[in-house]
Amino acid sequence: MRHLISGAAGFIGSHLCDRLIERGDSVVALDNLITGSRGNLAHLEAHRDFVFIECDVTQPIPAEGRFDQVWHLASLASPKEYLAHPIETLESGSSGTRNMLEVALYHGARFLLSSTSECYGDPLEHPQRETYWGHVNPVGLRSCYDESKRYAEALTMAYHRTHGVRTSIARIFNTYGPRMALNDGRVVPAFLDQALRGRPLTIFGDGTQTRSFCYVSDLVEGLIRLSESDERYPVNLGNPSELTIREFAEAIRRLMGSDLEMVFEPLPDDDPRKRRPDISKAKQLLGWEPRVKLEDGLRETVEYFRQQAPAHSAS
Ligand code: UDP
Repeated sequence: MRHLISGAAGFIGSHLCDRLIERGDSVVALDNLITGSRGNLAHLEAHRDFVFIECDVTQPIPAEGRFDQVWHLASLASPKEYLAHPIETLESGSSGTRNMLEVALYHGARFLLSSTSECYGDPLEHPQRETYWGHVNPVGLRSCYDESKRYAEALTMAYHRTHGVRTSIARIFNTYGPRMALNDGRVVPAFLDQALRGRPLTIFGDGTQTRSFCYVSDLVEGLIRLSESDERYPVNLGNPSELTIREFAEAIRRLMGSDLEMVFEPLPDDDPRKRRPDISKAKQLLGWEPRVKLEDGLRETVEYFRQQAPAHSAS
């Protein structure tokens, strides 16, 4: 199979490239490198089935040849980054999604949209099932991300209904693992960076808000299974094991074997109070559920961060 992947130099995109190349497929990887890193793909660049094109998917897409599967993963994904680039975030969800859908339509290819648990906003239903319509502040700071993904879902369904494109929509919950950017502001790299430097863990708010963390290899497996299925409506992909942020900080302390301090900082605007996926649909349709335990996934991630910044090992 031949794949076109936007956001391929990002955290999830680069792991997806690895899996597809490993199984013998060929990949054309697109990224504008705003947050993605060429280093995430460096090991693939000499591969004969892999091509990287630096481009912005909100502009006409330069990729040539036939495609069987189009993946639209391009987006700023961390709150710190989408708050710094709200217009680009809205554009990658709107014109970026449209351009990638047009490629899929032209080639008769399958299409997968990486959507998000943020479609549920600050949810009033818990855990979140795909049938829940969400509780999103349409003009809040996070709306650039939430609403662009909600629009992207609507556009994807419209291309399916109007043109018969074989579309899939993955609602991705918090995911972590190697190749996250150490400074992207999300809680996993933030706490690990702080722990590796022996600095206090910064808990926003009182730390009672919850998240559930899925290891990237589990997520990529879910994405591949979903892309091969005939389900057109959104499917949650995430780990249903829920932790408060304070409990997560405790897990980091246990893992890093240190007496790290915790400091409390203000909770960002519109920060969702709780989040946990109901994954019954993914289990039933795709036979999928996460397998990697938090301690094991965190260990792999720490190892990666240590290699990235050797100074950490000494501190
Ligand atoms: N968070 C925190 N300390 C940090 C970074 C994040 O307490 O240094 C909290 C954040 O307020 C949120 C949760 O951790 O409640 C997850 O944040 P993240 O940015 O990773 O992703 P989100 O799920 O909010 O998109």
